[in-house]
Amino acid sequence: MALSGNLWHETAQHGADLQRLERSVNCDVAIIGAGFTGLSAALHIAQAGVDVTLIEAETIGHGGSGRNVGLVNAGLWKPPEQVLETLGQAMGERMNTMLAQGPATVFELIERHQITCEATQSGTLHCAHNARGWRDLQNRHRQQVARDAPVTLLSAAQAAQRTGSTSFHGALWDERAGTIQPLSFTKGLAKAARAAGAKIYEHSAAKSVRFHDGSWQIQTPVGQITARRFIQATNAYATKGLAQNAYIPVHYFQLATDPLPEDLRTPILPGGEGCWDTAQIMSSFRLDKFGRMILGAIGNLDGFGANSHRQWARRKLARLYPQLAGFDMPHSWTGRIAMTEDYLPKVVDIGPNAISIYGFSGRGIGPGTLFGKCAVDWVINDDDSAFPVAITPATHARFHTAKALYFEAGASVTHLLNSRMP
Ligand SMILES: Cc1cc2nc3c(=O)[nH]c(=O)nc-3n(C[C@H](O)[C@H](O)[C@H](O)COP(=O)(O)OP(=O)(O)OC[C@H]3O[C@@H](n4cnc5c(N)ncnc54)[C@H](O)[C@@H]3O)c2cc1C
Repeated sequence: MALSGNLWHETAQHGADLQRLERSVNCDVAIIGAGFTGLSAALHIAQAGVDVTLIEAETIGHGGSGRNVGLVNAGLWKPPEQVLETLGQAMGERMNTMLAQGPATVFELIERHQITCEATQSGTLHCAHNARGWRDLQNRHRQQVARDAPVTLLSAAQAAQRTGSTSFHGALWDERAGTIQPLSFTKGLAKAARAAGAKIYEHSAAKSVRFHDGSWQIQTPVGQITARRFIQATNAYATKGLAQNAYIPVHYFQLATDPLPEDLRTPILPGGEGCWDTAQIMSSFRLDKFGRMILGAIGNLDGFGANSHRQWARRKLARLYPQLAGFDMPHSWTGRIAMTEDYLPKVVDIGPNAISIYGFSGRGIGPGTLFGKCAVDWVINDDDSAFPVAITPATHARFHTAKALYFEAGASVTHLLNSRMP
């Protein structure tokens, strides 16, 4: 079996080798980080006629945006009523209402800019892994329906029909949602942003950032940007020399088969939905356009639990779909999620006219794209209420290393035990 890494790199569209920043540039707005957030900000800011330059340390989509599952979900992972409890009624409903538009915003951008990214909008299925999970879904359904969301509870039999697996106690179908090839979407955003006039450089890590004489100076290995405003959009991937975002780094891995033979594939997810489950050590599964099964879960394939994660994945595949028992999964990769203490995204004040946007807590395709879009109002109208959260002073994550270890150890033990169960 020939092993490879991140499947999304092998099937990505809209590839373009971008230059490295090798000179001094003056602009209105500088952005660090080429993921959904930074690129959506660059696109919308450039469309508003503002001179914007974005630098990426590696290549477009190097961070979470090029590693994720590709589930374009509405809202956040945290249910709407909990969002209200944390943010208060007014701001909470604003967040819920805005993020309910996440999939519509993403699929509209895909359509408008002709981004080829395996986009399907046939919904996602949140699958109940046990009776407690089913009660959780009923609660989420009640909260979503109260907000007029087009969500439907599916019985165990209906879930079996939709997923092709008898593993679940039921599922919650959200028809607004869908799936994408996330790296293709990210590269497509970069192409659209460049077409709108944004300047984008790869292999141009910001080494230091300082505010001097009324403007921001960002130093890369062989270049420099001077800008009036500055947006850090590095989520869980910031390198040294930048503001340190306050989050717990949680790893999530994925393994993918090669395209499945037609006869085995037909009963699996015939409607093309992307799925994830209600387990605390969450897992996800979906097909790509070519019929590869992609299975993911919390855990780090580069860490101490790698063996138990891989063994768990083989068992999980066989439990979900007995016809796939023993199938090779030659593609494997891991990404880092920026989990905040309250599971909500943050916009943090990091200096005069400078913000850091981060903390999507595993739900960044819609929210990152929307927060990037909100940045236009912050830039043009100097509007501090541009985002559906207040811009707050920077804080430090408490005990984040210990908490990250807790997630990884929890996932390793769970996967070890599950992979040994008959
Ligand atoms: C494995 C995994 C699965 C996920 N699944 C889903 C999902 O199915 N649905 C969903 O909605 N969300 C999902 N997420 C979350 C989502 O991917 C992230 O929230 C989102 O990608 C964050 O986008 P971003 O643009 O804010 O940051 P990123 O995409 O992480 O981009 C940050 C960029 O900043 C760059 N950078 C860092 N330091 C510097 C520097 N000094 N100079 C220049 N550039 C720098 C990095 O190289 C990186 O490219 C998942 C995340 C992971 C990791």
